[in-house]
Amino acid sequence: MTDRNPPTSNKQLLIILGIFLALGCLLLWGTLKLVDGLILLIPPSVEQQLGALVVPAYERLAAHSPAQDTLDRLLERLETKLPKEQKIDRNYRLLYIPDDTANALALPGDTIIVYRGLIQQLESENELMMILGHELGHFANRDHLRAIGRGLALQLVVAVFVGDTGGFANIAAAIASDLSKAQFSRNQESQADEFGLKLLVSHYGHAAGATDFFQRLARENNLDIALLATHPAPGDRTVTLKQTIAQRRYPIRDLSPLPATLKAIDKSLLLK
Ligand SMILES: [Zn+2]
Repeated sequence: MTDRNPPTSNKQLLIILGIFLALGCLLLWGTLKLVDGLILLIPPSVEQQLGALVVPAYERLAAHSPAQDTLDRLLERLETKLPKEQKIDRNYRLLYIPDDTANALALPGDTIIVYRGLIQQLESENELMMILGHELGHFANRDHLRAIGRGLALQLVVAVFVGDTGGFANIAAAIASDLSKAQFSRNQESQADEFGLKLLVSHYGHAAGATDFFQRLARENNLDIALLATHPAPGDRTVTLKQTIAQRRYPIRDLSPLPATLKAIDKSLLLK
């Protein structure tokens, strides 16, 4: 009897340790889930406060031009198709930056950046609307807040929901520096693509142009494009989008031409 006791208590100890470990993991997992859930409840105004720390740097590069007016008008048209909850407390705006970077991005606080280099790559209005819809998707899914580190996210949640203990400014500054290098996950990117596709279809009544730009990128293998550095492989995006279009039986009709003010943007004409 006495010989058998020690191994039994070792086994019991192991079981207890295992239970504690499992409980610890569960607690950690629960906290992360809770933070994720609470992030989605953070009001857009908090995100706009964060955006106010990042947006001015881009505002300085923006230039007023006919292209800006056209882009504003297109974004407005797309906004009317947004689900109701995505219009509350939002302040969407677009900044056109005359720079050869071929990219578009969403800054926290509802600002979309579109570079001249991207417009030069486009062949239809539909392609542009798909890209704008994708960026609106990042706002809808609160991707900026979800992209910040867990530690900072937890601090932000505490500051917003438990009460600010004077630390918000510090947290915001840390988050702003985090956001300048933030990259969204593959999953976030495909969710934004799906959101963009839905908007595209509700705007035009069909899905033509949804994949054209990505398809061209994949074909041309143009590695110089900034958009490729921050987004999943365009070939994969095309495949997923085409599957969704087929599953939902979205019709494909004629493309709308790029508005004249955007078509006029040609490297040779506009280099200042
Ligand atoms: Zn994206």
